[in-house]
Amino acid sequence: QAKLTGKNRYHLFDIAQDRKLRGRHRSLTRIGRALGAQEFVLHYQPKVNMRSGVVVGVEALIRWQHPHDGLVGPGVFLPVIEHHALAIELGEWVIDTALCQIEVWQRAGLPLPVSVNIGAHHLQSQIFMDRLRGLLATHPEVSPSMLELEVLETSALENITHVARIVESCAELGVSFALDDFGTGYCSLAYLKRLPHARLKIDQLFVRDMLIDPEDRAILEAVVGLAKAFRRGVVAEGVETAEQGSALLELGCEVAQGFGIARPMPAEHVPLWLSRWQPPAAWSGAA
Ligand code: C2E
Ligand code: MG
Ligand code: MG
Ligand code: MG
Repeated sequence: QAKLTGKNRYHLFDIAQDRKLRGRHRSLTRIGRALGAQEFVLHYQPKVNMRSGVVVGVEALIRWQHPHDGLVGPGVFLPVIEHHALAIELGEWVIDTALCQIEVWQRAGLPLPVSVNIGAHHLQSQIFMDRLRGLLATHPEVSPSMLELEVLETSALENITHVARIVESCAELGVSFALDDFGTGYCSLAYLKRLPHARLKIDQLFVRDMLIDPEDRAILEAVVGLAKAFRRGVVAEGVETAEQGSALLELGCEVAQGFGIARPMPAEHVPLWLSRWQPPAAWSGAA
């Protein structure tokens, strides 16, 4: 095998780099086209109060209904558009679509709050609040309190001053704000203090092993205690079994979301799910 000279190495590097860039460019073009062709859809996953059985809202999760590849998850296309203007365009489509859906459910007699995920690039843009107000204004029938923004703990910290201002404006408007995947980032307690009103959404990582790993259980207990002390709402993600739900209730966490309650589903399936859902008997009896 021949040794590459420095020059050749650079040459190969350039080609790989060029391929990568062109690949990304092609993907961006495809995603932009898909947005225009209305190939994106939101699925909705219920969030429930395990003790009372009340469905407190749903989280909107984006999917790409690809004409050939079927339903494509966000992990495939969101990283491609990160830091690109398309991330803002798609983010605004998500908010607008969620507001339309709230209106549809409201008209059908189902007042269901919807949480939407907001990407870092979208959140950090200077126009974020103005555009959010604009979108809310185009849906005058929808109360802003029906909307919640979920922001990754790590994205919130990228520019804490900017985000603190957004959290405050949202509170004034009545829009809720939650720190998603809480516990996996590096949100210090001092930062939490700068984000008053932000709810905590505990990452599913801790819920997954809470019954077998005492440290995960301790983390959950600490975050629930933190939420109580700061008077913040707290939600547990990734509840897959009734036992996990019972254990969370014991720790004082009442609101949960997860495959054990419902998988994300198309909007049209939500009314039927709502009419059929009943919490496991063990939950209402838990101390
Ligand atoms: P996330 O906001 O933390 O959403 C929870 C993810 O966990 C969803 O995956 C959901 O389907 C999955 N999940 C829910 N319950 C369970 C469970 O019991 N067990 C397991 N193993 N998983 C569960 P999904 O839909 O693939 O979304 C992944 C991430 O992509 C989301 O994490 C969110 O960060 C991002 N995302 C999704 N939709 C959007 C969007 O419209 N905009 C932006 N910016 N990000 C989005
Ligand atoms: Mg989320
Ligand atoms: Mg999450
Ligand atoms: Mg996540």
